[in-house]
Amino acid sequence: MNSNSRLEKPDVLIAGAGMAGLALAAALADSEVSVLLIDPQMPPSPDQWPDAFDPRVSALTHASENILRKLGVWDDMAQYRISPFAHMDVWDRDGTGNIQFHARDVGEEHVGHIVENRITTHCLLQRVQAADNIEIRQQGLQKILERDQADGWLVVLEDGAELQPAILVGADGGRSRVRDQLGFRCRTWDYGQQAIVTTVKTEQPHQCTARQVFLESGPLAFLPLQEGAGNHHRSCISSIVWTLGHEQSKALTEMDDAAFCSQLAQAFEHRLGAVLSVDRRFRFPLIQNHAVYYAMPGVALIGDAAHSLHPLAGQGINLGFLDAAVLAEEIHRAAENQLPMQDFSILRRYQRRRKPHNLLMMSAMEGFKQLFGADLAPLRVLRNRGMSLFNQHGHLKNHIMVRAMGMEGDLPVLAQPGLLADF
Ligand SMILES: Cc1cc2nc3c(=O)[nH]c(=O)nc-3n(C[C@H](O)[C@H](O)[C@H](O)COP(=O)(O)OP(=O)(O)OC[C@H]3O[C@@H](n4cnc5c(N)ncnc54)[C@H](O)[C@@H]3O)c2cc1C
Repeated sequence: MNSNSRLEKPDVLIAGAGMAGLALAAALADSEVSVLLIDPQMPPSPDQWPDAFDPRVSALTHASENILRKLGVWDDMAQYRISPFAHMDVWDRDGTGNIQFHARDVGEEHVGHIVENRITTHCLLQRVQAADNIEIRQQGLQKILERDQADGWLVVLEDGAELQPAILVGADGGRSRVRDQLGFRCRTWDYGQQAIVTTVKTEQPHQCTARQVFLESGPLAFLPLQEGAGNHHRSCISSIVWTLGHEQSKALTEMDDAAFCSQLAQAFEHRLGAVLSVDRRFRFPLIQNHAVYYAMPGVALIGDAAHSLHPLAGQGINLGFLDAAVLAEEIHRAAENQLPMQDFSILRRYQRRRKPHNLLMMSAMEGFKQLFGADLAPLRVLRNRGMSLFNQHGHLKNHIMVRAMGMEGDLPVLAQPGLLADF
């Protein structure tokens, strides 16, 4: 394909080379489907990475691990750094509520892995670059013009190139231009909160445990990271996600390191002793957004473009990877059955398979958020008793955890355990 010449007509145009867009491209790699992947900002390569840990990390589930394994990138990611965690400890600062979970309770070695986003995007990009059927361009999508019933939407890139893909995929994140330009309706609410993310070193080792405390101001999570080549259990490095109101988060981001470390250790009840050092702090606004539809003729939304949710459950990109896997599965199925890529049934099936699952997860997260944000005394008592009862009810707890770990439910083939994808 050649920019600035005749109208280009790839089968699939993916706008956005974040984790979701890259995963979709990788799942379409080495097939008959022609793919163009565009993004004005390509993921940085390791020689551009600063020495510090990436402040943006994701807790990846077993389903995401399976997808990344089958896409052939997991082992590359492991060469850089992936941090398994085997335990979870969640408690409520207000009372006595406490939930603990061990991977061994469901016969597993780990609950999931904490992985820096830059490692995932870099390894996925390398996979995509190696595929003959995928072209990558460092260009933004500028506008979407009218739709030709037979051939699809006319798309203009920032360099003026015009394209007419059979399928346009909006993988362009929470502020998706594809979604907004085409008028996809959304249910949106602003939490009025921000998340501070950074990396800290604590006095005591994290022992491969992901910890989260529900404070009055919002949840505070410590996610265990691997420190060098040493024993992971003994590592004292954690990535933190601290959810707070705007003013509090601004004040905490601007205060000096020593004062921040002291406030953080106090908020975390010194569960890992003192906080000894902190990297640069970043703030992200927290907005929940869910597109009412994920598809219209010729266009589909995946990842944060379709849904962004509170990071308290660490599910955002895990849902995004499942979107990518299901959409790829439907595109491969259509190609096998020689269905034209413009056939809307492909995208309708994708939407039907993904929306109820995402909606369930988002409602559960919102319920959690409301329950833990509640100040009313009866709700507090209920919540503490509920947490303790839940903790004691092994069967129910394991059932819910197995779902949250992405080991059960209607999973696409790519997300199921096993060696090879069988589309
Ligand atoms: C504090 C915090 C903690 C989180 N923790 C977790 C966690 O533990 N686990 C988890 O699963 N999720 C987590 N998430 C959510 C997760 O980070 C997101 O769900 C994920 O990054 C979304 O990926 P994406 O590819 O959909 O979008 P993005 O990462 O936003 O990528 C979108 C891409 O589109 C590109 N783009 C934008 N506009 C255009 C355009 N016009 N044309 C072409 N390209 C364009 C951008 O440059 C970008 O590369 C967390 C989020 C936050 C804020």
